[in-house]
Amino acid sequence: MQIKRLRIAGFKSFVDPADLAIERGLTGVVGPNGCGKSNLLEALRWTMGENSAKSLRGAGMEDVIFAGTATRPPRDFAEVSILLDAGDEEREVVRRIERGAGSAYRIDGRDVRAKDVGLLFADAATGAHSPALVSQNRIGAVIAARPAERRAMLEEAAGIAGLHVRRKDAEQK
Ligand code: ATP
Ligand code: MG
Repeated sequence: MQIKRLRIAGFKSFVDPADLAIERGLTGVVGPNGCGKSNLLEALRWTMGENSAKSLRGAGMEDVIFAGTATRPPRDFAEVSILLDAGDEEREVVRRIERGAGSAYRIDGRDVRAKDVGLLFADAATGAHSPALVSQNRIGAVIAARPAERRAMLEEAAGIAGLHVRRKDAEQK
């Protein structure tokens, strides 16, 4: 599974809708300090299900919504879309948050649970907590992880994290 396009609107410093086509191979994001490189990766992680405001460098979840600048008013919502190339088909995963109304997910235009998005990315061996996404201050945490945490990271990387979620579900039924 491959990310083909990222569309970001109202998320952190991406106030105006931005469309980013991601080609096959290695993608580098370059730019001066504060231009939004980390925000870009956070948009990706947030859409994959990240729910820790702290790990998105905010105090609360609504801090991901464009907060306004001296010249531009704040926004009421943030929306990020990830277009995936899943072999012979495309899937679109969207997460949207509105001030005072919380956040919601859609897959291919249909309302889904956070869990459904989690399973989609777990099966694709990636996700909000995937070791493939290491933010600036997380490198030390990966190195210092306890064995159980490191095992969870490896399982996510191996694409079997989704199986554990399904087994737990089955056991509860
Ligand atoms: P560095 O090279 O220093 O790591 P960077 O390119 O990773 O920089 P980011 O951390 O992605 O930069 O972007 C920081 C900018 O995003 C800051 O100017 C900050 O004010 C802005 N920003 C963060 N959250 C919001 C928000 N909710 N609304 C508006 N701007 C925001
Ligand atoms: Mg950065």
